[in-house]
Amino acid sequence: MTRLPTLFVSHGSPMLAVEDSPARRFLQGLGADLPRPRAILVASAHWESMREPAVSLASQPETIHDFGGFPQVLYDLDYPAPGAPQLAEKAALMLEQAGHTVGRSPHRGLDHGAWVPLKLMYPDADLPVSQLSILRGASPANHERLGHALAGLRDEGVLVIGSGSLTHNLYEFRGGPIDAPVPDWVSEFGGWMVDKLQAGDHEALRSYRSLAPSAARNHPTEEHLLPLFVAMGAAGEGAVAKRLHTSHEYGVLAMDVYAFGE
Ligand code: ZN
Repeated sequence: MTRLPTLFVSHGSPMLAVEDSPARRFLQGLGADLPRPRAILVASAHWESMREPAVSLASQPETIHDFGGFPQVLYDLDYPAPGAPQLAEKAALMLEQAGHTVGRSPHRGLDHGAWVPLKLMYPDADLPVSQLSILRGASPANHERLGHALAGLRDEGVLVIGSGSLTHNLYEFRGGPIDAPVPDWVSEFGGWMVDKLQAGDHEALRSYRSLAPSAARNHPTEEHLLPLFVAMGAAGEGAVAKRLHTSHEYGVLAMDVYAFGE
């Protein structure tokens, strides 16, 4: 079976689902550019659990519209992909073998961190999907270890995706146009990240919060960057990152997409 890369996808604003942008056009072509997976496991910034990770066992996951104040067209969208309960159970066992305690959520659906990018990448919604939660307040290293426990999935035709945002400070979101100018503190952080990612400097990345310029300003809370560490870990030992796409939306959202692999 073809060995898949793992991905980190910046999902930006929910408007990505409907509003034309370079990132949206890139994601629309990405699914066809990858070997076709057997199933997909998404670690999304929008499913956080406490202390222990959880997987969703839903066989027909509902589309969760977990955002407020957006145009009705977004609430009318759905993503009726089948669930992947067998994959979820397998992932849970792999995590347990690595020493983690794992929650199993029988009905949890797909949040917009999962379904918005997938709707662009795989519009036919014909690939089974499950989600893995991230851990509120846990470190990048902790998330890399979670991913590492799942590294075998790449060899089994499973596409592991971390879905977040390379930069994500919504307090400094000014409501300007989608192509608003990019502040220096956003571009400097993104530049540091791409350098360390493409150099495979995982040690520096795990300490990004103290080493990268304006790290806390770009991530007042860490949940949109932690999925990157899951994807990094899930690519396995010695995997290197390749930036597949970069653009910015609304000035403050870096829309980078990375593939981790050989
Ligand atoms: Zn988000």
